[in-house]
Amino acid sequence: MRLGAKSKTPTFSDAFLQCARCKKTLFRREFEANLSVCPYCSHHHRLSAAQRIAITFDVDSFVELDSDLASDDPLSFPEYSEKLAGAVAKSDRLDGIVCGTATIGKLPVSIAVSDFGFMGGSMGRVAGEKITRTLERGADRGIPSIIFCASGGARMQEGLLSLMQMAKTTAAVERCRSAGTPYIAVFTDPTMAGVLASYASIADVILAEPRALIGFAGARVSKQAQVVKAPDDFQTSEFLLKHGMIDRIVPRKELRDTLESLVALLGGGK
Ligand SMILES: [Zn+2]
Repeated sequence: MRLGAKSKTPTFSDAFLQCARCKKTLFRREFEANLSVCPYCSHHHRLSAAQRIAITFDVDSFVELDSDLASDDPLSFPEYSEKLAGAVAKSDRLDGIVCGTATIGKLPVSIAVSDFGFMGGSMGRVAGEKITRTLERGADRGIPSIIFCASGGARMQEGLLSLMQMAKTTAAVERCRSAGTPYIAVFTDPTMAGVLASYASIADVILAEPRALIGFAGARVSKQAQVVKAPDDFQTSEFLLKHGMIDRIVPRKELRDTLESLVALLGGGK
């Protein structure tokens, strides 16, 4: 560094962070090089949509589409406009779903990635529309669709209009079926409620990251509703794999190669 040049004094949190699961202190540089997976306990920390795209698809191949779609406040739901404006300002995006086209192993794919950091990845009208367009793009262009799920479910502030997205996105999956184009879903932590109960769980191939929370009702609600006590881990990737709900658990380090092989195997475009 040049003498006299002004620089920000590095803080402890610039260099270190704490694992959310085992609470060990980690070197940030090593942690990021390890794709945000804890080297001690293998906890897969959440990624932003931009990080996910960067580590999954071919360098500079992503072309973002539909980024101009913005939610409004159709029900004048209390504090929704403020919350939405806050999420937009923080993320510099209009919605939590980032979608477009990319290549993986040089093969074209239609993709959507949910960002849990944007209002818990909740599915409102814009998220539903973007998922629908992603799947329709895959069907129309004859290329596979890949969707990374990370969501607490439908966006309650849009009421019935957000629940309608469940039917709409499910119908879009049918478009892929009719066109014969594959659709691969990747469940990341968490994949819950209206998202799991619509487009996510009806993919042709379902992959999940280790120990991701996957379920319909949240832990508190499902506990209250239980007639018979369910095992503590019943909403995890591992439990769902054991019971045939997902096809494979793939550690983050192997995810890109696995998706590349699947795309090559199932059809990489006309
Ligand atoms: Zn850890």
